[in-house]
Amino acid sequence: MKQDAIIIGGSFAGLAGAMMLARARRPITVIDAGLPRNRFAGHSHGFLGHDGRPGSDILADARAQLLAYPTVTFVEGTAVHAGGGIDDFSVELDTGAVLEGRRLLIASGVRDNLPDIPGIAERWGKTVLHCPYCHGFEIGGGAIGVIAGSPLSYHQAALVADWGYVTFFTNDMPLEQEALDLLTRRNVRLAPGKVAAISDAGGGGLSVEVENKPGTTVKAIFVATKLDVHNPIVDALQCRLEETPMGTIIDTDAMKATSVAGVFAAGDAARAVGNITFAAADGSMAALAIHRSLIF
Ligand SMILES: Cc1cc2nc3c(=O)[nH]c(=O)nc-3n(C[C@H](O)[C@H](O)[C@H](O)COP(=O)(O)OP(=O)(O)OC[C@H]3O[C@@H](n4cnc5c(N)ncnc54)[C@H](O)[C@@H]3O)c2cc1C
Repeated sequence: MKQDAIIIGGSFAGLAGAMMLARARRPITVIDAGLPRNRFAGHSHGFLGHDGRPGSDILADARAQLLAYPTVTFVEGTAVHAGGGIDDFSVELDTGAVLEGRRLLIASGVRDNLPDIPGIAERWGKTVLHCPYCHGFEIGGGAIGVIAGSPLSYHQAALVADWGYVTFFTNDMPLEQEALDLLTRRNVRLAPGKVAAISDAGGGGLSVEVENKPGTTVKAIFVATKLDVHNPIVDALQCRLEETPMGTIIDTDAMKATSVAGVFAAGDAARAVGNITFAAADGSMAALAIHRSLIF
């Protein structure tokens, strides 16, 4: 049976959108590959009413509540292709099954491309972080490193100074006078040069090695990642993309409509700076827009 909406990605944005459409008694299918962006972190912070819970528990509860609605189908799997147009989309799964829907909601998130520094990838989400609002409080103050990963990383260093004593590892990124002035005002220490590696320093700390100098010990590291929104669905639908200093996202209007009629996008896939609250809000907004577009 043709669905009113097919939602690709069943995490915070996709489930929030699905909940709105389910409550409108609309037949919908959610497809989810089960790899939310925050899966590397043991706990999630800052989502109202759920502070400190594992993200997987929040999603499990949300999914169970959603599945109580009779018009919802949830498919565990990966969407590998999408085509067609408004009122007549098709989505192919990795099993070969094909679903048909009148609207599409892309809620498939982004990939974080980390700087190519030995020791970073295996600590991602634990002691190497990107969002101080999510995990900064738990560091408990003290020495914190920020490694330049984008031209705006000096902003991150200036911000993170509210969570501890920051050393900004420039990783050979040039800094304008304006950036230097800001970092001075925020008492951020500069460590110029290429970062060679991150390793354990004992006592739970990390050692950041810059070229041939002795390592600097910090409790945690923040680093900007390069966002990558591409996946087979995004590429097949050819929605207009937006290049941001954080990476590539899908361009949407205020109601989360993309440049392709009938296709909406929500959550990190369509937001340069994302978190769970924003993803859930975007998913709800997109669902409201989808519902309206099915009627008016
Ligand atoms: C390490 C880390 C820790 C974080 N901690 C916090 C925190 O404490 N608090 C907070 O508010 N935010 C946190 N965030 C941010 C938060 O994870 C994201 O903002 C949020 O997950 C975005 O939700 P989303 O639904 O847009 O995307 P995601 O949660 O990334 O979900 C996308 C879903 O789509 C699925 N998918 C992708 N492609 C396909 C496909 N082709 N077919 C089917 N399914 C597909 C994926 O498997 C995934 O389940 C953290 C992020 C990171 C990286």
